[in-house]
Amino acid sequence: MAHKKNHLPEKQCIVCQRPFTWRKKWEKDWQNVKYCSERCRRHKSYALR
Ligand SMILES: [Zn+2]
Repeated sequence: MAHKKNHLPEKQCIVCQRPFTWRKKWEKDWQNVKYCSERCRRHKSYALR
C-alpha cells in the first residue's frame, strides 16, 4: 500500500502564482477560490489591472 488515495485538488494562486491545496473551509466554494490566502485576496488588484 504505497499509494495513498486521498489526494487533494490543487490550484495556482492568481496573485502569487504559487500552487495551493484544497482546504476544508473551501469545500462549498472551491470552484470560486482563486487566492491562496486572505492576504492574496486583498492584493488581487495587483494581478488584475
Ligand atoms: Zn497567493
